[in-house]
This record gives sequence, C-alpha cells and structure tokens, in this order.
Amino acid sequence: MLLINGHPASSVDTKALASKFRTFIDPDFVVSDTDSKRPFECDGLSVYKEMPRLVVMPASTDEVRKAMRLCHEHGVPVVVRGAGTGLSGGALPHPDGVLLSLTRLSNIIDIDPAARQARVQPGVRNLEISEACDEYGLFYAPDPSSQIACSIGGNVAENAGGVHCLKYGLTVHNVLQLTLVTVDGEVITVGNEGLESAGPDLLALIIGSEGMLGVVTEVIVKLLPKPSHCQVILASFDNIESAGDAVGGVIASGIIPAGFEMMDSYAIKAAEDYAHAGYDTDAAALLLCELDGTAEEVASGIDRCTKMFEKYGATSIRVSKDEAERALYWKGRKSAFPAIGRISPDYYCMDGTIPRRSLSKVLSEIARLSTEFGLRVANVFHAGDGNMHPLILFDESKPGELKKAEAFGAKILELCVEVGGCITGEHGVGVEKLPQMLVQFDDAELAQLNAVKDACDPDGLLNPGKGVPTLKRCQEYRSL
Ligand SMILES: Cc1cc2nc3c(=O)[nH]c(=O)nc-3n(C[C@H](O)[C@H](O)[C@H](O)COP(=O)(O)OP(=O)(O)OC[C@H]3O[C@@H](n4cnc5c(N)ncnc54)[C@H](O)[C@@H]3O)c2cc1C
Repeated sequence: MLLINGHPASSVDTKALASKFRTFIDPDFVVSDTDSKRPFECDGLSVYKEMPRLVVMPASTDEVRKAMRLCHEHGVPVVVRGAGTGLSGGALPHPDGVLLSLTRLSNIIDIDPAARQARVQPGVRNLEISEACDEYGLFYAPDPSSQIACSIGGNVAENAGGVHCLKYGLTVHNVLQLTLVTVDGEVITVGNEGLESAGPDLLALIIGSEGMLGVVTEVIVKLLPKPSHCQVILASFDNIESAGDAVGGVIASGIIPAGFEMMDSYAIKAAEDYAHAGYDTDAAALLLCELDGTAEEVASGIDRCTKMFEKYGATSIRVSKDEAERALYWKGRKSAFPAIGRISPDYYCMDGTIPRRSLSKVLSEIARLSTEFGLRVANVFHAGDGNMHPLILFDESKPGELKKAEAFGAKILELCVEVGGCITGEHGVGVEKLPQMLVQFDDAELAQLNAVKDACDPDGLLNPGKGVPTLKRCQEYRSL
C-alpha cells in the first residue's frame, strides 16, 4: 500500500476526482491526459521526474480554497507549482497527488507608491513587479537570476535571493503580508502591512517553507526607491583565493556593495563566449562589485573598493562608464548558467552558504575535490553573502557520471556545514538535499522541524516527502 508520511494514500478514483474539480474550476484547466501533464513532470532539477494524477489550475483564492478542501476530504496529496524553475525538486509531483499550478493567479492587484507596497498574486513573475513599479521610480529588490521566469509565490516558498540581496535583504526581508490557504482549506492572513506583528513571527516561518505548510495566494511586497546612480567594477585576479579574500576585505572595511558576485575561469570563458560582455578571459577569477546611491556615494565607494582590490592583487580593474556598459557587464553574469550549458552536456548546480571568511578555503577544497572526482567545476555565485553555486559539469550519457556528480555535490554541501555554513542558500532542500539535512541537524532539531510540519499539516498531504526528512527516514539514512 502506498503510504504518505505513514498514512494510507487516497483511494479516490482519478476520474471521479477530476469531475469534482470541474464543478468549480474551468474544466479546460483540470488536466488528466498524460501528454498534457508531461510538461509538469519535473522542475528545474530534471533528473527527478514523476507524473501527477491531475494538474489543476485554479484562478482565484476561492478556487484554491475549494481545491484544498476537496483534496483534504479525500486524503489526496497536493504539490504546489509556481513557474517550475526550482532547482531542488520542490515542485516534483507526487504520483498519487494533484499538482496545483498557480500560473493563472498572475495579476498585480494594486501598487501603492505612497506606502511603497504592491499587492500581487503568486503567479506574477518576479521581474514583472519591478517593471510595473518603474513609472513610480520604485523597484522590488530580491532579484534571482531566474527573475524573468520565476514566480513571486515560488520566491516566497524558497526565500529566494539574488544579486541585490546582500544590501537589500532576501525575500523574507521584503515581504510584509501573505494570504495563505491551509491544508484543510481555511484562508488566513500572515504578517501585516506595518513592520511589526503581534505574536510569534509566522510570516518568517512560512517564507522558505517550500510549499509544505500552506498555499500562498496573495503577497504584499515592499518596494524601494530606485537609486539615482549605479556603477559596477569588474576586477580580475590571477588566483581565486585572492579574489575570495578581496570580498572579505571590502565588506570588513564597512562597504556594503549593492551586488558582489564572483566567477571563476570556466564561468568567465563560457559567459564571455555567450554574452560578449568584455570579460578578461585570462583571469582566474572575476569580481563584479556594484555600488549604488547618490553620485557622491557611488564615487566614494568606487574609489575605496578599487584601492581594496589593488591591495589584494587585482590584475585589472574596469568601471562601467554608462548604463549600457553596466547592463553588458551584468548580462555576462546573468547568462552564466545557460552559457555553462554550452561547454558541458549536463551540469549540476549546487547551492550552499558559507561564512565569507571561509571563501578561499572552500574554493580551494572544491578544486581539490574536482580532481579527486575527475569532474570539472565552474563557480559563479553571490560572493558577498557567501552563497556558493558550484556547477559540476558531467555527461549523463556516460554510465555512472550522474551518481559521481551527486556524490561530489554532497561532499560540497557537507563542506559548507563543516565551515559553519548551511546546505542551502536559496534553492531549498526539496528532494535533492534530504540526506544533507541529517548533516545539518541532529535528531532533536529534526524532531522540532517535523513538529512544525505536523502542526500545520497533520496528515502530511502538502508536498509530502520534501524539505524535512521524517524521523523514520532519518533512521534509515543514519544506518547506511
Ligand atoms: C537559471 C536559474 C537561475 C536561478 N537563480 C536563482 C537565484 O539567483 N536565486 C534564487 O533564489 N533562486 C534561483 N533559481 C531557483 C528558482 O528560480 C527559485 O527557487 C524560485 O524562487 C522558484 O520559483 P518558481 O516560481 O519557479 O517555483 P517552483 O519551482 O514552481 O516551486 C518551488 C517551490 O515553491 C513551492 N511553491 C511555489 N509556489 C507556491 C505558492 N504559491 N505557495 C506555496 N508554495 C509554493 C513549490 O511547491 C516548490 O516547493 C534559479 C533557477 C534557475 C533555473
């Protein structure tokens, strides 16, 4: 018998279930045939695939509420999906469950420039918010590299980060209020439009909970005034350790750049070949350091950062002269992932966070592991906040290479924990990092995380088998 978190899976007939959904959701958006369901089999981590029983696309909070009630009544598991760009298998369907796709909840409901807030539905794309606020001189700060495609609902569920999060904070620092549909179909509000809430901080609990505690159907985000000036420094180094140390040096000197990114030689060459951004392809490492603010603040920041890069041995330093050049420098960085896809048939994108002081140590160790495993690694990441993204290059068609890449990735995550960091920065745990949760947490800590899940979802119907390993799975893993 199929069990969901130890409970028997629903025995309700799929046809009967689809008919019930069609009584309150436009029948065209209750998808049951295999070919139409295929695009929903996986998220951005396509090594995991599963076919859901049904794909259901509600168009309002009320339809989500009714969908959750129906699934709860019949004990049907639910996996929520935003844009499906997640990289840890968070939106991987459950074979006995319904995939609740929220792409039809895609309206910006209201922009309040005076309050610097926007109220949006979860299917709105991240970049759309800043585009819609541009006419008021405002922007939404968290900017994942996938921002052209990923949804704000997915950003909330993963606590997404991006280039500008070093200075302006992650999703959790830029969301004020959520409308949440609970597993049994109640609609609740979490957080409020002010800066303080009474009681424990449930907003922070929900943000980053990977679709396991409720379905987000509305989000109020904070908007920030667009800085009047912005320039980016490109600094090349002939070894990656010096670049890592320069990152620590700049931040220790009291400067918080608006963005502070690092690329290694594989990433530089691939990005340059793809985007023609003018990168120094002889460099072992490249830093992109963006300063924003008033003209005076930017000029002073550039002066201080340039001196710091010289002190740490930069081999060349360039500063963007105008907006077009600034956009070009960022274009290379933002297209680095697809660019890497051109130099390797497959790559596995890891995501871990480390204290900045350990950057050069961890980068050296990754290089050593690369030799040990016989697989190339490209590093392109948010260096300022220590959020690493080693891309392990492999060829899935070669027997055993995927397994080797996964084992290498696991070692990198364990290394992050060893130096006092964390197994995820922004991509979440999903199905990918369940074993590493046991490296990060002991049994007592995992029991607390499971207790939170049980309190919100006693039958384990929301995104089962993701995020937090059950205590039974912990025992299985630990005995391996
Ligand atoms: C090329 C590339 C670059 C990327 N760069 C970044 C980056 O710089 N920073 C970053 O943070 N991430 C990055 N990502 C990862 C991904 O884009 C983010 O995790 C993003 O937040 C996922 O949003 P989504 O709408 O695609 O969510 P999905 O992949 O659809 O879902 C992700 C998780 O959120 C849950 N979920 C989705 N919507 C809701 C909702 N409304 N209510 C409850 N749960 C929900 C799902 O169940 C799932 O667990 C990148 C991905 C790619 C492919």
